[in-house]
This record gives sequence, C-alpha cells and structure tokens, in this order.
Amino acid sequence: MARYDVAVIGLGAMGSAALYHLARRGRRVVGIEQAAPGHDGGSSHGESRIIRLAQFENPAYTPLVRRAWALWDELGREAGEPLIVRTGILEAGPPGAPIVEGSLAAAREHGLAHQVLSAAEARARFPAFDLPADWTIVAQDDAGLVRADRALAAHMAGAKAAGATVQAGTVSGLEPTPAGVRVSLADRETIEAGAVIVAAGAGMAELVPSLAPHLKVTRQPVGWFAPVRPSDCGPDRFPVFVIEDAVEAIYGFPDFAGTGVKAASHRLGRTLARAADARQDATAEDLAPTMEALSRLVPGAAGPLRALKTCLYTSTTDDEFIIDRHPDDPRIVLCSACSGHGFKFASVFGEVLADLGEGGDMPPAFRAFALARFADGGPGAGPRTTARSAG
Ligand SMILES: Cc1cc2nc3c(=O)[nH]c(=O)nc-3n(C[C@H](O)[C@H](O)[C@H](O)COP(=O)(O)OP(=O)(O)OC[C@H]3O[C@@H](n4cnc5c(N)ncnc54)[C@H](O)[C@@H]3O)c2cc1C
Repeated sequence: MARYDVAVIGLGAMGSAALYHLARRGRRVVGIEQAAPGHDGGSSHGESRIIRLAQFENPAYTPLVRRAWALWDELGREAGEPLIVRTGILEAGPPGAPIVEGSLAAAREHGLAHQVLSAAEARARFPAFDLPADWTIVAQDDAGLVRADRALAAHMAGAKAAGATVQAGTVSGLEPTPAGVRVSLADRETIEAGAVIVAAGAGMAELVPSLAPHLKVTRQPVGWFAPVRPSDCGPDRFPVFVIEDAVEAIYGFPDFAGTGVKAASHRLGRTLARAADARQDATAEDLAPTMEALSRLVPGAAGPLRALKTCLYTSTTDDEFIIDRHPDDPRIVLCSACSGHGFKFASVFGEVLADLGEGGDMPPAFRAFALARFADGGPGAGPRTTARSAG
C-alpha cells in the first residue's frame, strides 16, 4: 500500500491549490481525481472567474482576497503569464439592492477606490451598459477576472514539478487507522496518508455524509454572447459586473479572449438530487432569462448566444464555505468552498489547507468557515451574510 504524508481528494480549484502548496513544501503528497484535472463536470472549468476586493457577502473577507490576489500574481510569474486581468467591477441595482449596498459598505470599510455613478455617467464610461436612472451604480477599480483554467493548470504544473503524485481514481471511502487515514479507491486500491484533504466539490456529501444536510448542488447554465458592439465589450471599456434586480442577479465578463461576453444568472440554478446527475446539458432556453436581462441592461453585449456550458454550484445553507477538520478525526480536513464565489480564494485556501494538512492551526479568519456554525441547524448562525453571493 502506497504511503503519503498527505492525500488530496479532488483536483478542482481547491484541491489543485492545496496539492501545489504541499508539494512545494517538500511533502510527499498525492492528488486523487476521478476525471482529468480541468474537466468540465465540476465547478472549476472555463476561462474566467470574478475576483473583487470588496466582498458584499462579508467585508471581513477583503484581507483574504488581498492574500489570494498576491498568490495568483506569484503563481502567474512562475507560470510565465498573468493569471488576473484587472478590469474593475460595475455593480448595480435598484435602491437598497443588497449586493450593491454590501459592496459599498465593504469598499468604505476598507478604503477601496470606488465611484457612485449616475446612469448617464455609467453609460459614458462603460457604453455597453444602459442602466435605469433611479438605480444605485458603483464602479470599483480593485477587481477583475482570474483566468480560471490557466490558474488550475498552473497549480497542477507547479505541484507536479515539485514532486506531487497525481493519481486517477474515484475515492470510495475513508477509514481512520492508528497510523493515518486509509483512502479506498473504487478499483479496490488503497492508499494510506498521515492526513487527507477532501476537496471533492459536488462530491463532498457522498464522501462525508454528515455534510449532506448543509449542502445543495445546483446546475448553473452559463452563456457566451456575441457582442453587438465589440469595441465596447473589451476589458478596457467593459468591467466584470454583477447586476441585481427584483427577480434576477446576473454577472458577466468582458470579451477578453475573443469568445464573447460571458454572462449567467446567479439565482436560477436547478437543484440536483445527486452530483452524479450532472450533465453538460445547458440549453438556449436555460439562458433565456440571462439574455432578457442582458438585452435590457447591457444591450451592447446582448448579441446571439454563441456557446453555453453547465457548471455546478455546491452551496451551503448560508451561501458560504466549509473549511474545517472532520469532527470525528482531525487528520481529515474538509473543504467545500463554492457557493458560487469560491474560485478567487482558491490560491489562499490552498495555502491554508496545506497548513492544516501539516497539522497547523486554523487561522482566526477561517473560523467563520467552521462546521460549528451549523450546530443549531440554521443559516443565521453562520458568517455575516448581507446578500446571496455572486461571483
Ligand atoms: C457557473 C459558475 C460561476 C462561478 N463564478 C465564480 C466567480 O465569478 N468568482 C468566484 O470566485 N467563484 C465563482 N464560482 C465558484 C468557483 O468556481 C468554485 O468555488 C470553485 O470552482 C470550487 O472548486 P472545488 O475545487 O471546490 O470544486 P470542483 O472544481 O468541482 O472540484 C472538485 C473535484 O473533485 C473531484 N471529485 C469529486 N468526488 C470525487 C471522488 N469521490 N474521488 C475523486 N475525485 C472526486 C471532481 O471530479 C472535481 O474535479 C463559480 C462557479 C460556477 C459553477
């Protein structure tokens, strides 16, 4: 039976980052993935994810994003290409919209550069947008997109270069032993590791059934739209955006790669009974509400649908993250960091997961992600959440 210091289960954004940090620290580490890293059946595929310093979900997360951003920059230098495209962000909604209010509060608390714009000012600066005159519109500089697929590939390449083993396989069980944790694979092979990091995305509840009451997997269709006015939709004039109105919250990205403006609804995901039910089955009909909102609010981008994909959210009942040791065995570290807004943090979460895998302490900023918040079974016990998250 092969023996490692640490085994990482699942090599999406979180697992690949943990693998990278552990390998770079000289640990004997194995990453186990049921599909090829970078595959499109989980949560981490595609070219882009929003990164923003002002966290409308909780202003306390801004320092974490700063650290994540620095780590992405470092990884980009190592990979020989920047992994972040800084575009700024535009957030907008009717007066009192929780996302906009939460973001403004975070910007003020942390002294982040931001401008409250009239609809006319927003149109002049970002001509693809046409927002209602009575809305609150906020532009911020410290935001952009992480090149998601390249970031994941850079973590994987860095991990392998530093000696990590990558093993294809589906983990079917974890069994604590006096010497460590035994990891069983579906093909009957077993591995023993001193510690295990479980970062299985939508597969978390299957591997750790006690998490099931706190997690929900939804299918999230994403579309790429041909820009109506291409010169208004590049990263120089078109920021990443989150727009909230009474029924919808859409987010999107400039056409930075020639593939179109990527946009999606944050709210309209269908719940899946099992992660295994997920398919690449997004349809134009799924994207119709996003298209409608885009035509109304971002007309310069709302050309024909060019491509579409399905992605999975694994959301906690309070739309936050779970990063904690398993209550029954501290050598098993759990990371379920999606709820639609985890990617930007993957670089820093990987660093902290590596600390935990080495037996280190939980940093104070991470206590908000502890399982203890679910003790009363209610989302209200969780971290301060001002709005449903997006991006
Ligand atoms: C449409 C969409 C838009 C998003 N937008 C943003 C955004 O703008 N900004 C942002 O910060 N975040 C965003 N997110 C969230 C972000 O993408 C996720 O937080 C992140 O990708 C989660 O990564 P993960 O590693 O936890 O999960 P995954 O990427 O799903 O990785 C888990 C891996 O575990 C593997 N696995 C599962 N079970 C097993 C098993 N038993 N054995 C072996 N392997 C297993 C899976 O195959 C998978 O590869 C978005 C997510 C989606 C879906």
